Amino acid sequence: MPEGYYHYCDVSLPVPLDQLFTYSLPETLRHRVAPGCRVIVPFGPRRLTGVVLRCHDDPPQMEAREALRLIDAQPVLDDNLLALGKWIAAYYCAPLGEVLRGMLPLASEIRKGKIYSLTDAGRDAARQLLLDAAAEDPVVQVLRALESRPLSAAYLAKKLPLADKAVRSLEKRGFIFPEQIEEERDPARAPSDRLRVELLAFPANVKLAKAEREVVAFLELHPGSHNLKDVEAAVKNGSAAARSLHRAKIVVLKREPMAIGGGYATRAPHALNPPQQEAFAKIRDAILSRQFETFLLHGVTGSGKTEVYLCAIETALAAGRSAMLLVPEIALTPAMAGQFFARFGDRVAILHSAFSDSERAEQWRKIRAGGAVVVGTRSGVFAPVRNLGLIVVDEEHDQSYKQEETPRYNGHDVAIVRAKAAGATVVLGSATPSLESRYNAERGKYTLIELPDRVEARQMPQVELIDMRVEFLETRKQATFSRRLLEAISFRLENGEQTMLLLNRRGFSSSVACRACGERVSCVNCSLTLTYHRRDRRMLCHYCNYAEKVPSLCPKCQSEHIYFLGVGSEKVEEELHRELPKARIARLDRDTVSGKRHYESILQNFREGHYDILVGTQMIAKGHDIPNVTLVGVISADIGLGMPDFRAAERTFQILTQMSGRAGRGTLPGIVLIQTINPDHYAVRLAGLHDYQGFYQREIEFRKAMRYPPFSAMANILVRSEKQEVALRMAADLGQLLTPPPEKLKIMGPAEAPVPRLKNEYRYQFLIKAASRVALNELLRRARDFALERKWGATALVIDVDPVTLM
Ligand code: ADP
Ligand code: ZN
Ligand code: ZN
Repeated sequence: MPEGYYHYCDVSLPVPLDQLFTYSLPETLRHRVAPGCRVIVPFGPRRLTGVVLRCHDDPPQMEAREALRLIDAQPVLDDNLLALGKWIAAYYCAPLGEVLRGMLPLASEIRKGKIYSLTDAGRDAARQLLLDAAAEDPVVQVLRALESRPLSAAYLAKKLPLADKAVRSLEKRGFIFPEQIEEERDPARAPSDRLRVELLAFPANVKLAKAEREVVAFLELHPGSHNLKDVEAAVKNGSAAARSLHRAKIVVLKREPMAIGGGYATRAPHALNPPQQEAFAKIRDAILSRQFETFLLHGVTGSGKTEVYLCAIETALAAGRSAMLLVPEIALTPAMAGQFFARFGDRVAILHSAFSDSERAEQWRKIRAGGAVVVGTRSGVFAPVRNLGLIVVDEEHDQSYKQEETPRYNGHDVAIVRAKAAGATVVLGSATPSLESRYNAERGKYTLIELPDRVEARQMPQVELIDMRVEFLETRKQATFSRRLLEAISFRLENGEQTMLLLNRRGFSSSVACRACGERVSCVNCSLTLTYHRRDRRMLCHYCNYAEKVPSLCPKCQSEHIYFLGVGSEKVEEELHRELPKARIARLDRDTVSGKRHYESILQNFREGHYDILVGTQMIAKGHDIPNVTLVGVISADIGLGMPDFRAAERTFQILTQMSGRAGRGTLPGIVLIQTINPDHYAVRLAGLHDYQGFYQREIEFRKAMRYPPFSAMANILVRSEKQEVALRMAADLGQLLTPPPEKLKIMGPAEAPVPRLKNEYRYQFLIKAASRVALNELLRRARDFALERKWGATALVIDVDPVTLM
């Protein structure tokens, strides 16, 4: 970092305007501010946190306001990360300030004081209250606000004038709990049991207080690092003494590593089998060559990809470089995290979007201090690792790598860009690579490595399709479970083997309808039907969380004949209880799990055999390795096929393949039973045959014929407003700007979005297919400038480059 003395700095702020803002630096900051540091600056009547991009002495044309405060003594974003941020802003057509904010571990406000979250009881109360109490009630307002995410006391006080008293009463009733947020940079403020203390220097020529001398003596006698609580137990006032010694740089206080992924029975590393060995050798050579290269590791479920990742990471570390593993969802794969801890111990840092800000800041610090293996979800790709040598993207086909809010980046693609700049190796792993990735491998952009067989010659599970139309004709019953599936489950019960059942829809029924007039009850905010949740005796919108009691009369025709259509995971569980009263059944979906601990305990209990059957949504399809599961059932393969999305077939193929992959992973062979009314659909049929190649060939032809990605670049422009006239007018105006479409672009729209109304907003969209990325980018920029010129609201225009869902 060049030492300097500058009068001005240019700051990127999290505002929709795509420009830098110049501020003058007060005397005290001139020496200390550097690119990549965060500063607090005045902006209009507000104060904002921004990232400094440049320090200089060029007097601005207009008088510059003065920066108020420097947050970071050291830059939080180094040059590489700043460059990555600029790439993202350009590629995804997103304002730089918002991109940079998204890259940082903490929200833009420096949060101090308390952060409130809902407890489980609070969550239940919120549901009840939202039905029963008046919306103006401060208690309801606080609960509602907290339902979406934890919020700071300061934020609540600012947004909800009467929150203060409500917060206190909610806290007393155990509905919400506060978490103290520690000052960001000073570990000495953490509670004793979360700190470790270690002797740093031998104190020479300094006068120490009695307790301080005793702490030093204790540490001399007991070398290594100790939990501060233990020191406290040994030395009176030891904690305070250690903190002052920390400030005097005689001891060092560090945060206790968090116990995530701990407590798992970890396996000894396997010796790689020959295909794994061959795969690993290629990856190792690339890492050691220090040349950027991307591998697509296409290995069937149970082929032992994890072991290859671990060896590759070891290689990177041995070469003195750091490594990252990106996963779709850490909470869903605690066993994977456990293996990482077992192998790399304290060098592992975990970055997780479900972490609180303070937890995240803690991991961030660990990485900057030299933690060399980062395991993270999509935003983990921004981890401030030094000397990056390897990025592994596990389950590379997974949609959750795409962020569905601004900046709408794809962590998978950003990983590749970051690795390229660092001369690092990328390994994309999956049993069902996305069409795009597999196509890139065919074109030689990625290097394809295949693991076509399961380890130890284990068989792929045998898959049977059950035609539910035939089942209906034979039984004359509209049943959730076919006879074949029930029989197979009972058989597992008798043999002490386990079953996993997938139903890709939570709740009890998919909708509530009237038999007399056919009306389906839909959300007041969204043009979507509500889902009945029996446990709470209410109907829920899965998009905006709106809740309503089940009406006793049809809202349209006053008929009493209200009924429930379709099944959700909750109903599957209930029916199973009725059919198999002895079975011990667990359910895993967003209703049964709220925190990261929940997932782990349900899964852990299932793994340990406390349940016979696990029912769940697609959460259970991901990566779990439970050897005693010999039956996997899919209640309906059809749910996803009807989606208005060109990737519907691909998704169905992926989930069926992934789900099948959960069966027979141990020494016992497994079978898979898939219920469907579309047994001839190629996605269903080819998943049943484990035929990725066949599916790829067929699907790629379709994409080519239709000019869908990877044969075009795609973007979606969405305009939205609470007022329909406004949304329509914006769509029309933008439509004019975009006509006639530039060469190489095909624009479809404006059209109603597939969900025309969502969260109380009307939505119209333009779908763009482009033969040229440059032309596409230019057009998107024009659209954005147009919205700025017309002073559209900050959220009225949404630009989604490489969209993965078109809802
Ligand atoms: P994938 O991610 O490819 O589906 P995993 O990495 O989870 O597969 O491995 C599947 C199982 O095979 C795990 O239980 C793992 O411990 C085991 N395994 C991995 N490599 C070997 C090997 N070389 N020999 C024996 N078992 C192995
Ligand atoms: Zn009716
Ligand atoms: Zn809704």
